[in-house]
Amino acid sequence: MRKLLTYIKPYSMPIVFILGLLFIQALTDLYMPTLMADIIDVGVIKNDIPYIWKVGGFMLLVAALGTICSVVASYLSAKVSMSYGKDLRHHVFSHVQEFSLQEFDQVGTASLITRTTNDITQVQMVLNMILRMMVTAPLMAIGGIIMAHRKDPELAGVLWIAVPALFLVIGLVIWKGVPLFKLVQVKLDAVNRVLRENLTGVRVIRSFNRINYEKKRFNIANMDLTETSIKVNKIIATLMPAMMLIMNFTSIAIIWFGALRIDNGHMQVGDLMAFLQYAMQIMFSMVMLSMMFVLIPRASASATRINEVLEMKPIIKETEHQEASTERKGFVEFNDVTFSYPGAEHPALCNISFSAGPGEVTAIIGGTGSGKSTLIKMIPRFYEVDSGSILVDGIDVRNMRLADLREKIGMVPQKAVLFTGTVAENIAFGKEDATQEEIEHAAKIAQAEEFIANMKDGYQSEIAQGGTNVSGGQKQRLSIARALVRKPEIYIFDDSFSALDFKTDAKLRAALKPEITDSTVLLVAQRVTTVMDADRIIVLDEGNVAGMGTHHELMDSCDVYREIVSSQLSEEEIA
Ligand code: ADP
Ligand code: MG
Repeated sequence: MRKLLTYIKPYSMPIVFILGLLFIQALTDLYMPTLMADIIDVGVIKNDIPYIWKVGGFMLLVAALGTICSVVASYLSAKVSMSYGKDLRHHVFSHVQEFSLQEFDQVGTASLITRTTNDITQVQMVLNMILRMMVTAPLMAIGGIIMAHRKDPELAGVLWIAVPALFLVIGLVIWKGVPLFKLVQVKLDAVNRVLRENLTGVRVIRSFNRINYEKKRFNIANMDLTETSIKVNKIIATLMPAMMLIMNFTSIAIIWFGALRIDNGHMQVGDLMAFLQYAMQIMFSMVMLSMMFVLIPRASASATRINEVLEMKPIIKETEHQEASTERKGFVEFNDVTFSYPGAEHPALCNISFSAGPGEVTAIIGGTGSGKSTLIKMIPRFYEVDSGSILVDGIDVRNMRLADLREKIGMVPQKAVLFTGTVAENIAFGKEDATQEEIEHAAKIAQAEEFIANMKDGYQSEIAQGGTNVSGGQKQRLSIARALVRKPEIYIFDDSFSALDFKTDAKLRAALKPEITDSTVLLVAQRVTTVMDADRIIVLDEGNVAGMGTHHELMDSCDVYREIVSSQLSEEEIA
């Protein structure tokens, strides 16, 4: 919670100002009934018209002052709470930018999104409410009681019954309602989860004819939410009538006993009317306070969720003892690297050692789940090694600035990701100041030129959200172009050619060759034909190196490799 509070500090001045304004407004509200009593008891009874005008005018001024304070305070508190929400979103977003993939795995992307949007909105709404009620409600309640006492201490006895009765009703509602409120939040999460899975998996669901099953699943979650919400609302709904009942009975009691006291000459008519108004002010402010008690637990659940994200320390931090960069370019060296995903039973990588240099192609092949993607994700330091070390250009990646390290790398991930924007913008993502020539050149090598030319606006064609308006192979070629335009020292291709047909694959690799002669290339592949002419092939098997060498060396020495080859190529091709 601490973090959330520190972010409120910059607004302490406006907040003090708001509270001051609301203080004045509450005082004017408390003053009004007394002025009214004066008009009635002095002006009206003695028929003193100038007095009525005088006090009436003053009342108008007081009312105007109260209104101005209230309007300005509302404006400012809305502004403060919205700015606070903006700041929070900014802090969460920039904090999340520092996360390594480990933290993303831990919180989950869906939850991160709800925390940045819905939860922050909850907090900012409640902040706005608290700002407006924090001073007004208690001040009106206590001030009202004092003023009522001053008007008529004996009649105030009525309040000694009414106020505790109101307390009782409010307490009962909070006691019953707050746990349900929390439950509503949980049920809402469940609905969100089902809906999200449904939307992202819509193709799978349709093709497997699971629509009815999914409908049922959604209906269950939806009904669950509805039932809980109805329960909550039933309880909340009893609050208003119960309070109105108490208030009206209080009015009756005040008027009844007040009338008796006026009859006896202990009280004046104006005072009775003022007393009645004070009683209402007291009770209304208690209702406001009770609303705060209902909303705060809800917001505090959200605040905790936001705080969890903010307090999360990224495992991978910027280094403090940064080593000076060397003259070497494009050297990658793994020394006995072992790595396990958090909570995994077996390490995903086990004692991996190899080195690669400029002008060399290192291919990584192995079954699914053998750790190929994990291996290459270690190079840009997406994850931290458990033991051993990874050197890039002779420097341990842990002693390098992340930006410097990643600057050297052009990565084509296994799952091609495009952003909304034009084709050209997506390619230039790899290099901010890329010229049109550079973009076109990269597209040409990536074999993307032709299909881009066939798109409606060529390079200016818009890519839809998630890249849904291009095919898988086209997506992959664009993401290859994005890496190419960067001209990095180290190229990493994670299974980037698998969505291409054999012809395009061959053409692309032929075009790529002269382009990357001075760079270091690491490529993950499924096809033996893709890796065959690599300078070094690393065969991975369940995180271990099963063999390393050229195609011919491995054919002689490595069983795992021979198996992969014979499953893909015919006898004569192997020979
Ligand atoms: P490959 O790319 O060779 O198919 P991966 O490197 O993606 O294999 O995965 C290697 C192993 O690590 C698999 O057993 C997989 O289940 C596990 N793994 C991959 N990514 C994660 C992750 N983010 N969290 C936990 N385990 C993971
Ligand atoms: Mg993979």
